[in-house]
Amino acid sequence: MKPVRFNFFSISCALLAFALTAFAQAPATNDAKAAWHYGEIPPPKDEPKIIEAGPPPSDAIVLFDGKDLSQWQGDKGGPAKWEVKDGVATVNGTGNISTRRAFGDCQLHVEWATPVEVKGTGQGRGNSGVYLQGRYEVQVLDSYNNKTYYHGQAGAIYKQTAPLVNVCRRPGEWQTYEIIYHAPKFDPQGKLLAPATVTVLQNGVLVQDHTEIKGSTSFAGAPKYQAHSPKEPLLLQDHHNPVQYRNIWIREL
Ligand code: MG
Repeated sequence: MKPVRFNFFSISCALLAFALTAFAQAPATNDAKAAWHYGEIPPPKDEPKIIEAGPPPSDAIVLFDGKDLSQWQGDKGGPAKWEVKDGVATVNGTGNISTRRAFGDCQLHVEWATPVEVKGTGQGRGNSGVYLQGRYEVQVLDSYNNKTYYHGQAGAIYKQTAPLVNVCRRPGEWQTYEIIYHAPKFDPQGKLLAPATVTVLQNGVLVQDHTEIKGSTSFAGAPKYQAHSPKEPLLLQDHHNPVQYRNIWIREL
């Protein structure tokens, strides 16, 4: 049998071929990632269904266990009137709901699903929101094949910071937010000493990485801070789309 011989020329050719192949593939991968980020192509269709979340940790305050909304109140202070059925609370046009208790720094777990029946486009499709301290919105939206402005997608700090990636599941599929929030700090005169920060994992994927919040959520104009108490109620938005919620709990930090 002939011995296999490697010389300088053959090794160089092999290395060059490998480098050219790798170089030719790299831009396509980056383009695909960039396009996904802006919602121009859908996320992979074969992604696994989410694993059911386990029970809340023993030190958590359960805000919604599927039975009732007794921990919540309506816009004007009365009972929260969202429909509760089969362990799920559904937005029904009766207004935003807020927790009866107030919270500051926290870890918050929320599960949500946008309507199976797709209606509307852009911000009119599966819109709701988690308002930390009733002021700073982590957007809830059906961002599955739904173009909208970059900082209005699901997982955005609304009108401030886009999510790192669009990981939105199909309409009707349950999704999770794990939110780690640190409230802003103000001096006694109301001057901002430290902005709020927020980290968000959507379906276990990091979409906000210790993001500085720029001020209260505002639809138009630059966000601004207004001094408030260290603890304020959490609010869920009624944007007139029947978004569903379940399994909401919070741990004070
Ligand atoms: Mg919203």
